[in-house]
Amino acid sequence: MSRTFPLEKIRNIGIIAHIDAGKTTATEMILHHAGRTYKVGSVDAGTAVMDWMEQERERGITISAAATTCHWHEHWINIIDTPGHVDFTAEVERSLRVLDGGVVIFDGVAGVEAQSEAVWRQANKYGVARICFINKMDRLGADFNHTVVMINERLRSKALPVQLPVGSEKLFRGVIDLVENKVIPFAVDSNSDSITEGIEALQAKHRQALIESLAELDEQIMLPYLDGQDIAASEIKAAIRRLTISNRIVPVLCGSALRDKGIQSLLDAIVDYLPSPLDIPPVLATNPRTGEEILRLTSDDEPFSALAFKTVSDPFMGRLVYMRVYSGSTKAGAQVLNSSIDKKERLGKLYVMHADHREEVDHAEAGTIVATLGLKMTSTGETLCEPTRPVLFEAIRFAEPVLSMAVEPKSRADQDKLDDTLAKLAIEDPTFKINHDQETGQTLISGMGELHLEVLMERVFREYGIRVNAGKPQVAYKGTITVPVESEGRFVRQSGGRGQFGHVWLRIEPGDRGSGFEFRDQIRSGAIPKEFISSVEAGVKGVLQSGGLSGYPVVDVKVTLYDGSFHEVDSSDVAFRMAAFMAMRDGINKAKPIILEPIMEVEITTPDQFLGDAIGDLHSRRAHIEGIESRDESSTIRCLVPLAETFGFAGDLRSLSQGRASHTMQFHHHEELPQGLAEQIVAKAGRSR
Ligand code: GDP
Repeated sequence: MSRTFPLEKIRNIGIIAHIDAGKTTATEMILHHAGRTYKVGSVDAGTAVMDWMEQERERGITISAAATTCHWHEHWINIIDTPGHVDFTAEVERSLRVLDGGVVIFDGVAGVEAQSEAVWRQANKYGVARICFINKMDRLGADFNHTVVMINERLRSKALPVQLPVGSEKLFRGVIDLVENKVIPFAVDSNSDSITEGIEALQAKHRQALIESLAELDEQIMLPYLDGQDIAASEIKAAIRRLTISNRIVPVLCGSALRDKGIQSLLDAIVDYLPSPLDIPPVLATNPRTGEEILRLTSDDEPFSALAFKTVSDPFMGRLVYMRVYSGSTKAGAQVLNSSIDKKERLGKLYVMHADHREEVDHAEAGTIVATLGLKMTSTGETLCEPTRPVLFEAIRFAEPVLSMAVEPKSRADQDKLDDTLAKLAIEDPTFKINHDQETGQTLISGMGELHLEVLMERVFREYGIRVNAGKPQVAYKGTITVPVESEGRFVRQSGGRGQFGHVWLRIEPGDRGSGFEFRDQIRSGAIPKEFISSVEAGVKGVLQSGGLSGYPVVDVKVTLYDGSFHEVDSSDVAFRMAAFMAMRDGINKAKPIILEPIMEVEITTPDQFLGDAIGDLHSRRAHIEGIESRDESSTIRCLVPLAETFGFAGDLRSLSQGRASHTMQFHHHEELPQGLAEQIVAKAGRSR
């Protein structure tokens, strides 16, 4: 099968931004220039094409990571939509996994905001190459240089301006392209100054600075530079591309998405500087049968492999799974193996999604992104591959939910429908979980924050027509241990006929924060027969899930099974599960258990006149203030606040600032709950059980 599109001409990118920085507007403009959307949608009017979910239109935020394809200068650009809202970091994380490059958009007035920092760290983790676009240069207070300094300092990255704005605010009249060494003028008012006035000296100085920076980092520029030779624009571009792809610099551009200024240069930069799938290292996978490591090259000659990175249940089309093909190719209707769950599935129709229509295609090739109908069992983060050549990619790890609430349908008749709908949403979103409390019969939903759950409940109403009553949000505390212990469990029953016998010795140790649970089997010389080991593990897990003394799930522990004994006749799976259960329960209680609470990173921006009240409010919430930055009569407070203290915060902030302060909030880490509070919580959990 010959390729439809050369690999080196594909760009799989994400547009990443803090909410309101202009991601949707910029995406619109990109699609206007490079896509088939002829009519530019406007976020403010609520017609933006990427905001395809009804509710997103109303809120003006983009939540789901749909992928949209467009074309620019013979290149094929797949834009994987990353959410702009802080509560949806799982969505960002999953999209970063399948991107090769990112365009990070900053608001030229606000500069680098808290959430951009979080996403930047995530992008570092996945080695995603980036370019920056400083947007809103037309706005009052826009400051290109300040934002560049913030990228250097707050994001600790080498920001390399490849453009400079000519003027700003109302007088933003063009950009200087330092690479091509030319001025790109925008349509200007007839009475504004001529664009070239005073520009030449600035242009020469900054171009020299650009070349010097490149010479420091790239030998192919350094040698001609030291020889005093002229360096051609094409060589500068090639050097910027090399350094961007190796993540050593971040080229910075600027413009105004709303006024359609600088978008075509941005598209050029995407093509010129961001990597193609060929520039990305081969993906490391394992053979699910043997555990042996396998490298899959981005090539059509390799066996087919792909990662499902997004599942959407579309009320009209059905279940749509987006996948990125890493190697080989596949056809509509082909049988594939889902190696994550070891099940074979058949692909239905394949689609390339454009902003305003979907295009049915008969095959999908390496390096591309397609959506497919027909997969029934595959969920987000799972690997699809050629059944005879199985590979398994590293699963996408999602954060555990930090907050839960009880929900019930307003009308009892909707209970089954609600259960179905919640199950569907949980498949789409791995940070959304459902539990049924056996004793109370309640349905508990959990997620990454209040807004996350609110948005999901709105979808339940809008898309599925079910009205829901929701209870108060509850913090999802977790337990862990602080000292290593050894613990014995013996389960012996002798009642008439056949008895029960299970006996284990476990070493239970604290693990690193965020490491979850690890089980090791160190039984030598057959003290416990192999066939019972998995029962021991099951017993251990049972205790971790149901919790130690507090009733909260226990995390970040390493458990090693190192000794025990068995009985030829009486030993059984159940007996070993019980023995492990007993050893674990006692062990946790001896290992100085503590309770962990989720801590949120909160950033508040407020006019200075309300700063004192905002800080006062934060102090009453056990907040730890990390820093306050002031600029232009407004201040930004960065702080860490325990999730339990954040309820009602949005409303309080609104009323103390007459609605003029704004904030963002996202999960940051888990921390030990102070002793006094821990006792209250344990007592409360005990009462409610
Ligand atoms: P998102 O939340 O990052 O997707 O941001 P949007 O694209 O929804 O933009 C947020 C707000 O900023 C909207 O009211 C836009 O009209 C406005 N906006 C976007 N780009 C610009 C720009 O370049 N200049 C100005 N002045 N406003 C902009």
